[in-house]
This record gives sequence, structure tokens and C-alpha cells, in this order.
Amino acid sequence: MRGRELLSSKSIQCSDGCVLWNGYVHKTCGYGVQKFMGMPRDVRRIALICAGMQHKKGVVIPSCGNRLCINPAHLSLVNRQVWREKRFPTVFPIGAGEKNGRARLNESLVRKMRKDRDVGKKVSELSEEYGVSESTVREILSKNLWKHC
Ligand SMILES: [Zn+2]
Repeated sequence: MRGRELLSSKSIQCSDGCVLWNGYVHKTCGYGVQKFMGMPRDVRRIALICAGMQHKKGVVIPSCGNRLCINPAHLSLVNRQVWREKRFPTVFPIGAGEKNGRARLNESLVRKMRKDRDVGKKVSELSEEYGVSESTVREILSKNLWKHC
């Protein structure tokens, strides 16, 4: 199949089982993009399609945590709502927290974060809970960010 050849010509097999995309990478999303069947697509989705999965809606998640990995065995497709709950646990507060999420804060969350700090929560805990980096938490607490609330 053409897609499979295309992917293997632009990827590297690693000893840990990951197959890393070596072609064009989307600047903001951090995953590979390749023109396939007439339009640019997430290469992980192409990998899943080539592995026999039907084209379904949803978000591709690498179980190995590597955004460049296109090994279909490391990829799963989840429903967008499940993905939101995992990735933005404070904004969509169902399910477990996950590190490295990037929550979009809003004013009430910022106020809540400052209150949490007042009752003694650590910066590292706030960072995890709100899905923003520790430096962002410090900026928020010192009112360099979100001054107005
Ligand atoms: Zn992998």
C-alpha cells in the first residue's frame, strides 16, 4: 500500500519499539504531517489507516508519550470528550489528572488557584492540578500574569 511505503520512507525504527517520523512536523502541534489521499493529514492517523483501522473521528494519543511516534501499536484513537477530560482535568473535571496538559485558564480558575495557594498548596501541586507549568503558576501567583483578577 502506498501510504505504508510513504511512512516507512520517512521514519526511523527505534530500538525501544517506537517508529519516529522524520518528515515534516507541524510547528505548533508537534506531530508529523503528510499529504495523503488529497490533503495534509496527521501521519499517525495515516499509520492507523494503513494498519487497517477505519477512518474515524477522534484524537490520536501515543501510549508511549512520543508525539512523533507512528507505530500503530503505540497509538490509540479516543473520543474527543475523553481526551479533553484527560488533558484538561481542571477545566473538564472528570477523570484523572495528567502531567503536561495545557489547560486554558480562565478568571475563576486563576482566583481558585490563588486561594489554593493561600491554603498551602505547593506550586508543583498547582502546576499539576491546573495543567500549566510551574513557572506559569509562579507568574500567576505573583500577579505578573492575570493581573486583573
Ligand atoms: Zn512509540
